[in-house]
Amino acid sequence: MTIQILASDVVSKIAAGEVIERPASVVKELVENSLDAGATEIGVEAQGGGVELLKVSDNGTGIAQSELELAFHRYATSKISNLDDLEKISSLGFRGEALPSIAAVAEVEILTQTSSEATGSCMHLAHGKVTRKESSARRKGTTVTVRRLFRYFPARLKFLKSPATENSHIAHLVSQYALSFPEVKFSLLLDKRPTLNTTGSGDLRDVVSVIYGSELAQRMLNAERKDGLLKVNGLIGPPSLARSNRKYLSFFVNRRWVHSPLLTRATEEAYHGLLMNGQHPIVVINVSLPSQELDVNIHPAKAQIKFCHEQTVFGSVQKALEEALARTPIATSKAVPFPVGSGHWQSPRIIMDNEPVFAVAQLPTLELPVLRVLGQLINTYIIAEGPDGLYLIDQHAAHERILYDRLMAQWSQKAVEVQALLQPMTLELSPREEETLSVSKESLAEFGFTIEPFGNRSYLIRAIPALAVRANVIEIMSGLLDSLASRESSVPWEEKIAESIACHGAIRAGQQLASEEIRELIKQLEQTKQPRTCPHGRPTMIHLSVHQLEREFGRLT
Ligand code: ADP
Ligand code: MG
Repeated sequence: MTIQILASDVVSKIAAGEVIERPASVVKELVENSLDAGATEIGVEAQGGGVELLKVSDNGTGIAQSELELAFHRYATSKISNLDDLEKISSLGFRGEALPSIAAVAEVEILTQTSSEATGSCMHLAHGKVTRKESSARRKGTTVTVRRLFRYFPARLKFLKSPATENSHIAHLVSQYALSFPEVKFSLLLDKRPTLNTTGSGDLRDVVSVIYGSELAQRMLNAERKDGLLKVNGLIGPPSLARSNRKYLSFFVNRRWVHSPLLTRATEEAYHGLLMNGQHPIVVINVSLPSQELDVNIHPAKAQIKFCHEQTVFGSVQKALEEALARTPIATSKAVPFPVGSGHWQSPRIIMDNEPVFAVAQLPTLELPVLRVLGQLINTYIIAEGPDGLYLIDQHAAHERILYDRLMAQWSQKAVEVQALLQPMTLELSPREEETLSVSKESLAEFGFTIEPFGNRSYLIRAIPALAVRANVIEIMSGLLDSLASRESSVPWEEKIAESIACHGAIRAGQQLASEEIRELIKQLEQTKQPRTCPHGRPTMIHLSVHQLEREFGRLT
């Protein structure tokens, strides 16, 4: 399509506005233009945090000489032409605003060459006006150089952070586009330092390897799911690669890098119970769907989007991630089978049995290999050996996981086992607790609690879930009401109830266990779906692999 100025009816419908906030915004607009022009190689260069110089060159289609000036007019674009096009945007740009906005706040030089013209053209602009235009040779593609950004806009300059910070924004941005377009070869020079070079191989794992390192890239899991025309795919980190901030969440929709609270929530939902509080996963996910199912025209920077069917997208993304996490291949596949009963390791209280230890192939790492119990340490941790080394298991956290899984299973089948109390217990509640109880009474009943009013903020508990028999019922109730009252958490009420019962019902640290009890506990833990974390996301166990042991003991050369 040739470049045209959009008609006023279209202009009035586009979410126009300031798009150039900082040097990284210039890079974003120029890189998007290069990608829209079909480039397979994009070079980005920045100096002085991007304020002195920014340069983006590509090998895309180039701009015809006759259209070059027009490209710098407001609302001049080759990507859409009418209102209908606005409903189905397939390019990254569509408003015809970026080039004029950049030219208004900096000095711009553009050098471009199409494949059909004998010679290319070069044009200079200052304060938005063309100052020079000439023919100039270049191989097919476009180079835009932006100098002295915001020189005459002191208020904007003041808002910018140090060159190092602006550089980090630029690096983050280029990384995101590299993740979204693995078939494009990106290079980034920051103050002449090569900072990023992707291969353009088309393999996302190669890009992840360049950006996050090869070890991490190898451990990322494939996520893939198709629900009709909606596709989710990408790479996601196992819970063991968690990070302490959300900077490692990369979401793309039809390959556009987006900030999406919806996708963030779907991800958090999928990792729920697998990560500790404050931890976040590494995720690189693209959602592709027909462009009509999506509105990208809601914010000038085009980083926000609106899905027509939010719930469908939410569900698909959550499931894609959950499936990938459940498929986790065994991380210790190079494990050396551990010699059975070699007895070279003595525990404080040894329970020997003759069950063999198997090196179980292809178990998802979330699951546990068969463990052989060796003993209990300070009445709190269980020591066991597996095919690849030593396992120290927190007995309370492990039991919590078992109870939680059982409760949720019973609840979802509407078959929670109930234990009637021979002697009803009396419960005295604060006004706030009473309020919580009145709204959650039915939910509690679904879990087997029978609670009757007894006048004057007193209640009688007549029955409790059978799995809570070990627990102090009064403690459970007050913990439960507390947790149900907390609003900030997005955890569904049934999970809160199950977590609370599991936590109070589980055996405690410091409790001595008989060998039979320990063995039973481990057996049950092996059967849970997520044996390595408790329902709160804390680890249930520490694993010391044979390799780690050998390293610690200096046996490796
Ligand atoms: P938009 O991207 O919204 O169309 P821009 O102001 O960013 O608006 O660009 C205006 C037009 O200039 C584009 O529609 C495109 O035709 C042309 N253009 C800009 N950058 C390039 C490039 N790197 N390669 C080829 N054409 C380009
Ligand atoms: Mg553009």
